[in-house]
Amino acid sequence: MQDAGSTTITNVRVFDGHQLTGPRTVSVENGLIRDEITAPEQVVDGSGATLLPGLIDTHVHVETLEDLETYGRWGVTTVLDMASPNPESLLKLRHCDRVTDLYSAGYPAVAPKSTQTRKMGYPESMAIADVADADRFIDDQARDAVDYIKIIIEDPKQPGTNALPPDVIAALVERAHARGLKVIAHALTPVSIRTAVTAGVDILTHAPIAGALDPGVASEVAAKGIVVSPTLTMMRGLTSTLGRRPLFRALGAVKLMPKLEYASARNSTAAYLAAGVTIIAGTDANQDPTAPFSPPAGKSLHDELGLLVEAGLTPVQALRAATVTAAEVFALPDRGTIEPGRRADLLLVDGDPTRDITATARIKGVWIKGHRIR
Ligand SMILES: [Zn+2]
Repeated sequence: MQDAGSTTITNVRVFDGHQLTGPRTVSVENGLIRDEITAPEQVVDGSGATLLPGLIDTHVHVETLEDLETYGRWGVTTVLDMASPNPESLLKLRHCDRVTDLYSAGYPAVAPKSTQTRKMGYPESMAIADVADADRFIDDQARDAVDYIKIIIEDPKQPGTNALPPDVIAALVERAHARGLKVIAHALTPVSIRTAVTAGVDILTHAPIAGALDPGVASEVAAKGIVVSPTLTMMRGLTSTLGRRPLFRALGAVKLMPKLEYASARNSTAAYLAAGVTIIAGTDANQDPTAPFSPPAGKSLHDELGLLVEAGLTPVQALRAATVTAAEVFALPDRGTIEPGRRADLLLVDGDPTRDITATARIKGVWIKGHRIR
């Protein structure tokens, strides 16, 4: 790899992933954070600014190298792709130099004739027919060296939905865990969240907008150590786009479907938080024209941090959700904090985001593995 040179950022407040420290000096050499270095090639005055670990978005959909460049410009230096219809090309974009570092689920686990295969360009051949086929799917994914498994858990009560049955979901989780792969469950309704929790998934993504979380679920999620990525940016966008569609309004009016309300997602996040559930930041950013809503790459993670604070996280908790906690949950020990030996993925912002979360978007500099990219 090309030498990233050396940099010292002086007199800067540091949110190290855990807490605010400094003002102090942070040094970078050969792509890593160092205790101190002599004769840095570049010195950056960090007065009035705060240095953060590069942000981690735990739920995105990436298509191109340009997407990764966009994330980088917004200080989002690691993204976790949560399913792609083109894993062959996407998996090649992992861990490229000088752009945001990508991890990927590859294909998602879906039911035959699912929304994904009927409407979103995923091949029907990847759909999972039964319990035996669950093993085939996980083994294929492991052979393709995906980083984790994404399962779409639908609510069979929702009109027009084809859902994986609970026994197939349980088989997927068991085989994934046997292969050492974490399982992330897309679950949007109280029924699908219940199915995911029973199956023992590791991470729940999305927060419910069609009805509130069942009482008791939040404490069960906490007790089982399941992590939640509520993707509030997406849920807010969905309620404003889907909620206005005539079909959803009509179904809601005749009580065939609960009304879609962003307040459900926010209140559920607050309930998870109160129960002691670990929360991580994710946006569901995508460029998919078939998606009902597309949070913009990079920018949306800053919006998500604001929504997490609005839902009751402190700014420090929100920042951890996009740095140290996200790294711990996905077992990325080389990032997420500012300490010697970690990757020099850094975001320099004006102001103090531990007091005012909107400061994360006032970007003064971004480094990926020591390369200044902004
Ligand atoms: Zn998604």
